[in-house]
Amino acid sequence: MLDKDGVILTWNPGCELMKGYKAEEVIGQNYSMLFPSFLRDKHLPEKEIAIAKENGRYETENWRRPKSGELFWAFVVLTKITDDSGKFVGFVKITQDQSEKKKLHDQLQSKIEDFKRMNTDLNNFAYTASHDLKAPINNIEGLSLLLKSELENRVNNDGISKIVELMHQSALKFKVVITDMARAAQEESEHYTYQSFKDVVDDIKLLLSNDIKTVQAVFHEDYAEAPFVRYPTKHIRSILQNLITNAIKYKSPKRKPEITIKTTLTEGYTLLEVADNGMGIEEEDKKRIFSMYQRVDNDTVVEGTGVGLGLVAKLVEGNHGKIEVESKVGKGSKFKIFLR
Ligand code: ADP
Repeated sequence: MLDKDGVILTWNPGCELMKGYKAEEVIGQNYSMLFPSFLRDKHLPEKEIAIAKENGRYETENWRRPKSGELFWAFVVLTKITDDSGKFVGFVKITQDQSEKKKLHDQLQSKIEDFKRMNTDLNNFAYTASHDLKAPINNIEGLSLLLKSELENRVNNDGISKIVELMHQSALKFKVVITDMARAAQEESEHYTYQSFKDVVDDIKLLLSNDIKTVQAVFHEDYAEAPFVRYPTKHIRSILQNLITNAIKYKSPKRKPEITIKTTLTEGYTLLEVADNGMGIEEEDKKRIFSMYQRVDNDTVVEGTGVGLGLVAKLVEGNHGKIEVESKVGKGSKFKIFLR
């Protein structure tokens, strides 16, 4: 048990076995002593406490430092405790040594890379396809309606009205199928699981490997402070895939794309930052880009539908998070995704 500030109150034989410290060596000390110094320097102990206090619970996997100094990979759950009157008194912290599991997991990971890629493709398909198809089918439906009313005003249209009517019916049916598909994909993706940022980004890099090679994009990644988040798999993948794709698509013509992805614990959120050195976004366009089907009219011929960032904003805000962008034209952009 920890008090409100993370000071250790109780220490059982399990803790002693795992960490090597006796009760008298740790009780009364801050639990930050169990973190390696590179995580203490990032104020991770205080940040984890702040999130558990805010959300009632925080779980993560990261390095921990026992008395021997030999770091081990730990699964940690911090749960906020209140007394009978509802007053906040501290935390229960549970740590599991995951070193063996991590080793096995890493081995397995490398062996199933191909299967994971296929699975990612399939998972993404229904979701992206249904969203991306909505805009063109809406257009076809609207245009066929317009054409129909135009033709009806003409006396002799040689039965073309009938054909257009059939076209319009087809477009409507198509719309129903797409809407159902989107709903099915949405329901399926509302399942919260424990996501590793590194694994998700690795999957996406595999998926985009051709584009990455073509433009010679370089990635800088730092997940040390917040390696995991509890989020629906498809949502987190969709968010990252859209941001990474954009960082590649909207690169500067003058230099190779450098994409920096970083996760931290900030203001009670898990903050995901995706920064690029691309063409940047004009100040007046910054608000618009998060609306569905909005694109910025720029000179470059880059293919797109304007769905991506709108979808990202929906997925983030739907989970009580927020999204911000900082950008300088000609320098690059940084998207900040605050995940809850
Ligand atoms: P799409 O890429 O399909 O046009 P998005 O919703 O993903 O749609 O993006 C909306 C607009 O925001 C894009 O048209 C582009 O002008 C701008 N944009 C998005 N990401 C970036 C970026 N990393 N750098 C510069 N501009 C961007």
